[in-house]
Amino acid sequence: MPSIRDNLLRVLERVDQAAIRAGRDPGEIKLVAVSKTVEVARIREAIEAGVTILGENYVQEARRKIEEIGHGIQWHMIGHLQSNKAKYAVTLFDYIHSIDGISLAREIDRRAAQKGRRVRVLVEVNLSGETSKFGIDSEAVMDLIHHVAALKHISIEGLMTMTPYFDEPEKARPYFIKLREFRDRIQKEGIEGARMDELSMGMSGDFEAAIEEGATMIRVGTAIFGERRH
Ligand SMILES: *Cc1c(COP(=O)(O)O)cnc(C)c1O
Repeated sequence: MPSIRDNLLRVLERVDQAAIRAGRDPGEIKLVAVSKTVEVARIREAIEAGVTILGENYVQEARRKIEEIGHGIQWHMIGHLQSNKAKYAVTLFDYIHSIDGISLAREIDRRAAQKGRRVRVLVEVNLSGETSKFGIDSEAVMDLIHHVAALKHISIEGLMTMTPYFDEPEKARPYFIKLREFRDRIQKEGIEGARMDELSMGMSGDFEAAIEEGATMIRVGTAIFGERRH
């Protein structure tokens, strides 16, 4: 069985190649190693092999791991966040990828203010209209961004999306294109306080297509840690 180090090196190689194909600098793509359900010993292996950003889906699970591993690396919240967990999230995470409503944004802002912090966030967009997926509908995104941009303790830095599951990466590509075009449109509006540089898109099965379409953050679990037990 390949080691986590072997897997990571292979992923990084594929990141480089996809970036080069697209005429991009591989250094502008941040690899978020998704460690949900992965135990601490194996996360440490990944860190020793060079991982600098970890992505977690559940506040409780992340909290336990962060207590053990610490803040020497970045922790990103990539899963759905409930408002009642915002008070933990603002101190645990360097980044929250999953802002999907005004009330959640307000609660994060309020909790961050109490801690004297400014939290970096992305707005999660539901491009497929699937009811099973989290994220805000694309028609409502602009309004949300206007609201969030005005909050003092949140720094809104871009967009995130989860595509439906496909067996072929090419089927995800239209969603990556849509998210990029969406981001470009928002940037054109020049909303004060909304930088919108980041595009968090692409997972183990399709990160190369995402990079070719402009991803600045890819979220990769299985290709680094192997299949998850459920
Ligand atoms: C689990 C998860 C990933 C990683 O998925 P893999 O297919 O294992 O790479 C990425 N993003 C989100 C939001 C996830 O929940």
